[in-house]
Amino acid sequence: LVRAEGVHKHYGRNHVLKGIDLSLEEGQVMCLVGPSGSGKSTFLRCVNHLEAINRGRLWVDGELIGYRQSAEALHELGDKEVCRQRERIGMVFQSFNLFPHYTALENVALGPSLVKKESRAAATAHAEELLRRVGLGDKLHSYPARLSGGQQQRVAIARALAMRPRLMLFDEPTSALDPELVGEVLDVMRGLAGDGMTMIVVTHEMAFAREVGDTLVFMDDGVIVESGDPREVLARPRHQRTQAFLSKVL
Ligand code: ATP
Ligand code: MG
Repeated sequence: LVRAEGVHKHYGRNHVLKGIDLSLEEGQVMCLVGPSGSGKSTFLRCVNHLEAINRGRLWVDGELIGYRQSAEALHELGDKEVCRQRERIGMVFQSFNLFPHYTALENVALGPSLVKKESRAAATAHAEELLRRVGLGDKLHSYPARLSGGQQQRVAIARALAMRPRLMLFDEPTSALDPELVGEVLDVMRGLAGDGMTMIVVTHEMAFAREVGDTLVFMDDGVIVESGDPREVLARPRHQRTQAFLSKVL
């Protein structure tokens, strides 16, 4: 469902992604780990074309992301096409970014009714179902300020799901949470994985990676240093850089 081939990204002279190759089958969970500044967030942002890549190719669900290929060259897609591609890729960030003046239900229903032109009733019914699925059936009409960080993040996940994505990207979804709230968010993500959602998860939660991940990818300085079965990589890292990183986070 996801394929990256030779993906490069520069910010000015800073070469942030130096040839990323990976692939992810439908229904699989990839956990992406690595030191700060290694390019994990940049890679996720390239997958939904929040950042344009400088070289290489990215496909999601069979479509080249951000570009159209003709016989001679690549042509960058227009905004409308990029938005259409992005609709199928849900993203959840460290900060929840809910709309403060809308209730949980409104936050979740808003996207589909605005972007997908779903009827208000249909969008609301779907939003209610999703909020129940993330364990917030009793908080439908609460405003974000009245919700804990863990509850807000679960609303953010429901909001991403409301667009019926084919792929979910998570960028350190639990890093901003108090330790006692991390579990409830990971539980929701575990449930999603169990339901067959394809996911790429940037995380420092190694227990989650071991238990839920189908692959663990270790990135350092813009390259994939090693990847494989999370249990294998965590138990027997092959590269010194992976060992050094894991010894700090485990
Ligand atoms: P962290 O674990 O701290 O979140 P990361 O692996 O997600 O790190 P990135 O955020 O992808 O790392 O950053 C990789 C490099 O790209 C860093 O050197 C960063 O300074 C640079 N960078 C990221 N975003 C931008 C931007 N919008 N403009 C310029 N440089 C950027
Ligand atoms: Mg990051």
